[in-house]
Amino acid sequence: MEEKKTKETKYIFITGGVLSSLGKGLASASIGALLEARGVKVTIQKLDPYINVDPGTMNPFQHGEVFVTDDGAETDLDIGHYERFTSAKMRKINNVTTGGIYYSVIQKERRGDYLGGTVQVIPHITDEIKDRFITVKGDYDVVICEIGGTVGDIEGLPFLEAIRQFRLEMGRRNIIHIHLTLVPYIKSSDELKTKPTQHSVRELREIGIQPDILLCRTDRFLSPDLKKKIALFCSVDKDCVITARDVETIYELPLTLHQEGLDKIIVDLLGLPTKEPNLTMWERIVEKIKSPQTSVVISVVGKYVNLKESYKSLNEAIIHGGIENNATVNIDWIDAEEIERRGPETLLSNVDGILIPGGFGRRGIEGKISAIQYARENKIPFFGICLGMQCAVIEFARNVGNLKEANSSEFAPDTPHPVIDLLSDQDAKGDKGGTMRLGAYPCQLKKNSFAYKAYGKREIYERHRHRYEFNNKYRLQMEEAGLSISGISPDGNLVEIIEIEDHPWFIGGQFHPEFKSSPMNPHPLFREFIKMAIENRDRRRTG
Ligand code: GLN
Repeated sequence: MEEKKTKETKYIFITGGVLSSLGKGLASASIGALLEARGVKVTIQKLDPYINVDPGTMNPFQHGEVFVTDDGAETDLDIGHYERFTSAKMRKINNVTTGGIYYSVIQKERRGDYLGGTVQVIPHITDEIKDRFITVKGDYDVVICEIGGTVGDIEGLPFLEAIRQFRLEMGRRNIIHIHLTLVPYIKSSDELKTKPTQHSVRELREIGIQPDILLCRTDRFLSPDLKKKIALFCSVDKDCVITARDVETIYELPLTLHQEGLDKIIVDLLGLPTKEPNLTMWERIVEKIKSPQTSVVISVVGKYVNLKESYKSLNEAIIHGGIENNATVNIDWIDAEEIERRGPETLLSNVDGILIPGGFGRRGIEGKISAIQYARENKIPFFGICLGMQCAVIEFARNVGNLKEANSSEFAPDTPHPVIDLLSDQDAKGDKGGTMRLGAYPCQLKKNSFAYKAYGKREIYERHRHRYEFNNKYRLQMEEAGLSISGISPDGNLVEIIEIEDHPWFIGGQFHPEFKSSPMNPHPLFREFIKMAIENRDRRRTG
């Protein structure tokens, strides 16, 4: 480690205790937001203790959404929170997993880089972990680093050991440890309990990490006495015991933590001279979410609808579209197979807009296609994302283009009309792995299209994560039947956006716009979709 480099950047390590799902990712993102509001340049990194090299291959039912970055990394969904809360741009290096660490250590070992030495968790794995901290530094003032999992998990130990060593090497002034724990309210005794926090901090101290700040997740404010008690038992300054109270909307978290003085404590501990934070933007966002002028109902017809974590960014992007239109959006999550069983009119007749998200595999496809037909024929604003766009092409080909058996070769490899297909060079490889189109790609928009009206410019960049594409063999035929191709790659080869013109608003995009939406910059397509849904609702009411 170069001395010069290590002096420049300060680090905040965030660990979690007691149980998972306490909101460590959101806490990390909110700390990022608060520091940015003070003019500090931050980035956020997540270290995940699982052995998968990245979450790309993990089932959304188990792991929630895979968030895709501009550089095509398939990352943990917390990375999405980091981008939504801060202006930091996430890249591959922002998400490190145990699998990724071992993978590179083993590659080095095979290359002989260790010169015949025995390769061990300490120092080789821990050194590799520490190297990743360095890589992410760039020109940031502060790197916030969230350690996935809960203290006490076997697989988290190498990460904790690495951050313990790192503080020794970098000095106390340059690194702080924040620990998120739970302070549960017990109804029968009408009390908040501190014991789980005490145990969790003890566990952390056993491995040599003394937290500087405790974020106590709770449903009510901690009294000064309670804070004093926690401070005493956990050897933490009492001002550094922070109430992390439940919030109505996640975008309120930076404000709540600021009221507790968290950002001031952090900059003081790190010796960072900063101005008072400007939080007007966050206040405005929260105000808009809490006092909307109107509300709309959007149906999301998908496959993982029982597990909202699988559609995290989508859910947030819809909320952002609502913020921009001063509206609360009530999302009606509908299982596509339910549409197959009960028909689209039973489930969709009272909705203001219909959205079909991305997905993989054939289950529920026919339900999605009939939902799209219903949206097209009944002039309900429609937004198809990735798989949703592909299904819209299939629906159009079948019911307007007269290709009754049109399909995607993903679901029907023998279809006579693969309107959605692998590109020919992908076919030749015969290998699906590694052939996904991942990350940001440019797209040129046709003037006067719905898309152009939304974006207000000709060239856009959107993030992709899919294997199949619109099959160019059918392009002319589809256009003649009335499908408008309003977004294409600059070389003209890839169809990126389709629309139906004789409709209030019908768009399908081959990319995932939800990954680029934030509460401060709602994505144009979500903004327009919600606006059209509100207009549709008004039309129905007056009509
Ligand atoms: N399954 C489709 C494909 O691989 C769509 C993927 C997606 O919606 N992200 O092309």
